[in-house]
Amino acid sequence: MIPLFPALREPAPHVALRFGERALSYAELAGAAHAVAERVGSARRVAVWATPSLETSVAVVAALLTGVPAVPINPRIGGRELAHIVSDSTPDLVLAEAEAELPPELDGLPRTDVSAAPRTLSEPLPAEPAADTTALIIYTSGTTGPPKGVVISRTAIAHTLDDLADAWRWTAGDVLVHALPLFHVHGLVLGMLGPLRRGGRVHHVGRFDTGTVTAELAGEASMLFGVPTMYHRLAEAVGDDPPLRAALAGARLLVSGSAALPAYDHERLTRATGQRVIERYGMTETLMNTSVRLDDTAPAGTVGVPLPSVQLRLVDEEGAPGVPSDGASVGEIQVRGPAVFTEYLNRPDATRAAFAEGGWFRTGDVATRDAEGRVRIVGRKSTDLIKSGGYKIGAGEIENVLLELPEVGEAAVTGEADPDLGERVIAWIVPADPEHRPDEEVVAEHVAKQLAPHKRPREVRFRDRLPRNDMGKVLKRSLSDPT
Ligand code: ATP
Ligand code: MG
Repeated sequence: MIPLFPALREPAPHVALRFGERALSYAELAGAAHAVAERVGSARRVAVWATPSLETSVAVVAALLTGVPAVPINPRIGGRELAHIVSDSTPDLVLAEAEAELPPELDGLPRTDVSAAPRTLSEPLPAEPAADTTALIIYTSGTTGPPKGVVISRTAIAHTLDDLADAWRWTAGDVLVHALPLFHVHGLVLGMLGPLRRGGRVHHVGRFDTGTVTAELAGEASMLFGVPTMYHRLAEAVGDDPPLRAALAGARLLVSGSAALPAYDHERLTRATGQRVIERYGMTETLMNTSVRLDDTAPAGTVGVPLPSVQLRLVDEEGAPGVPSDGASVGEIQVRGPAVFTEYLNRPDATRAAFAEGGWFRTGDVATRDAEGRVRIVGRKSTDLIKSGGYKIGAGEIENVLLELPEVGEAAVTGEADPDLGERVIAWIVPADPEHRPDEEVVAEHVAKQLAPHKRPREVRFRDRLPRNDMGKVLKRSLSDPT
């Protein structure tokens, strides 16, 4: 394996990271990280207080240079969840920016303040750690249960990033607009480590807003990584915003991931800008599994084909492979390859249960695949696959149809226990205009035109907002809980 970050070892002659007004070149980042690495070197495992900052980036790079596993921590969690992550991952050092006030859960641990002041490198960087060394322990998003600590090796990161470079023709010339948090795979591994591995540039803009995206893409930036809620906001705004339209039209690459991008938003963006949004699909456990390739002309709704280092198969309910690639037959996705995680931290039973015979990882996501190998995600087996009246119904298809109604702002579909049907389809709707609930008959008529009878919601429930986590993913468990 080549070093994880060749552009740090032989510094690329340009900016690596920019956060607002502050920036570090590759040489300065290597220097700043090296200064921190000296203190990290003797730790067993470091927690990184992952504010969206240059300091967090320096801290993570420092840990990666030394080979000491880093545990990025969402600075917005607290209480029980934070206590769980700390006691589960047992860091013996916390890296944080000097201004950060750490919560009591981290009190007992030694702390090192990270400086992102540009420094020149006076001595050589530590030797490249072995490829199978643990690089990161990242906690899952907690969408379906308590977050699990996922142990990720250096080689897994290298493989996934090189796979994406292949699919997207990602180069040192690319400048990424980044508005994602730095404690999940999307923002940290793809958004920050991705450009650093390529020797490209990151412009972190803090909070997402359409004005900043316009300014960045009209300027130097060539690519944007976002979650579907961001593309929804772009799709809403683009009609009345010619500069945004021009900026998106001129981008080299718009990528969406972390959750399904509703076809409705995708199609509106394509109509307005001529751009296709590239969807990719991955997990904390597997890093990236599939992506639409840059030259693919597939319609909206597919997450593309398996990446070069990924083996992917669909299995039926008995776990048997051989689900036909006919674009209609549904199976659970299983994957295998060098980007798959090492284990769940401290959870040997969960780790064992996660793998089928032959080392195939059970993703828990169900999908179809067409003759060209393109994967279409139906949803999660646990929350998005509704078994009703003998049918298996994907929540996403129904959510898409609901979103087509201008009166509907957000939509989620769940299954609820039903004595006759097994489960019945429930639609949860956030009105586009808080003052005007969509007329239930208008919803019913629209749905009746677009969907077969068994897929039509039996009941519509209105909410002011949908419960979502930091990545904008709908927490369907809390939605079904009585409120
Ligand atoms: P937890 O495992 O704690 O319940 P989580 O699964 O949301 O949380 P992540 O590892 O961050 O945590 O997310 C991976 C999941 O996100 C995938 O299993 C899949 O369900 C969903 N996902 C990611 N990308 C896409 C996509 N392009 N389309 C549809 N779903 C996606
Ligand atoms: Mg998961």
